[in-house]
Amino acid sequence: MRWNWNVLKRKKGILTALSFLLCFALFFNIASAMAGQRREVSGRILSWVDFKVTAQAMEDALAYDMASHDTEQPIHWIDLLALLGAKYGGEFKNRYRKADMDAFAARLQKGETAEDIVADNTYLKYFDYYSVAYESVLGGLVGEYSLQTEESAGGSPVFAPKYGLKAYSPIAEGWAYSHNADFGSAREFGFKRSHLGHDMFGSVGTPIVNVETCMVEVLGWNRYGGWRVGMRSLDGRRYYYYAHLRSGHPYAAGLEEGQMVYAGEVIGYMGMTGYSDSEDFNGMQRPHLHFGVQLIFDESSKNEIWVDPYELTKFLSRHRSSAVSVGNGDFKRKFTYYDSVE
Ligand SMILES: [Zn+2]
Repeated sequence: MRWNWNVLKRKKGILTALSFLLCFALFFNIASAMAGQRREVSGRILSWVDFKVTAQAMEDALAYDMASHDTEQPIHWIDLLALLGAKYGGEFKNRYRKADMDAFAARLQKGETAEDIVADNTYLKYFDYYSVAYESVLGGLVGEYSLQTEESAGGSPVFAPKYGLKAYSPIAEGWAYSHNADFGSAREFGFKRSHLGHDMFGSVGTPIVNVETCMVEVLGWNRYGGWRVGMRSLDGRRYYYYAHLRSGHPYAAGLEEGQMVYAGEVIGYMGMTGYSDSEDFNGMQRPHLHFGVQLIFDESSKNEIWVDPYELTKFLSRHRSSAVSVGNGDFKRKFTYYDSVE
């Protein structure tokens, strides 16, 4: 935009430029008024999200969703979590009770909507906020997908249609890792800042798996993250950041910016690169994956909303992608998969 603007100014003189500026300002006013209106109507743009849903609550909500999926009263897992988020003020850690979820689920099963339940209970007035917040974090993780059956491995693939958790743990099946709650702890390299992601410690070369079907947004060296991949969800809302990948051979063969990659594909390998201006430098003390999840509501906003992915990785650990060696330190997913989002 700015570049076009300068060209315009040189060619047509300052008066023309000013009239364009006026039009632009007018347009911008209308556009921002519309944006303001959209925010009021649907509440889709949030300026901050703290994601504190526990893995247990996500599992319980998903179980309700899956069990009711083919019934007359399907229960959406995010509705259940948003009702509980509204009840708990977003704090699940010490407050979550399965009985609370059962009570909401019983009402939804009777045919009430989440909005009906909210209308009866003023203490649930922030339901809309939690609904948008949790949809933005979890919106791409559950749905229909097809996975090659285990029996057909090695032969011509036979597919089984499935419904449920279609996203994967960032660590491939069978590879050991350890982790703990480390989001927000202090980091020193470069400048004092807090840790806006989650570290999963394992061994160099562990296949790193794409969590959700995404486009590859950035690939390459970053002075903090070392060799890293940034993946953007197809709805544009989530940016997944996988960092400190292996020196010398960080990425899965053929991975390119702009490519669509299914959930469960191997995208790279665990390593210890980063904390350096020079490429391929091992600046980490222990091999680990730094896994970050950023929410994007407004592309132009400088306000970066990174959520704590620790509970999410615990929840995703129930679904790990099998990877097989294809030589030269590379791995590929074992079972072919199709995501319904395509
Ligand atoms: Zn980290």
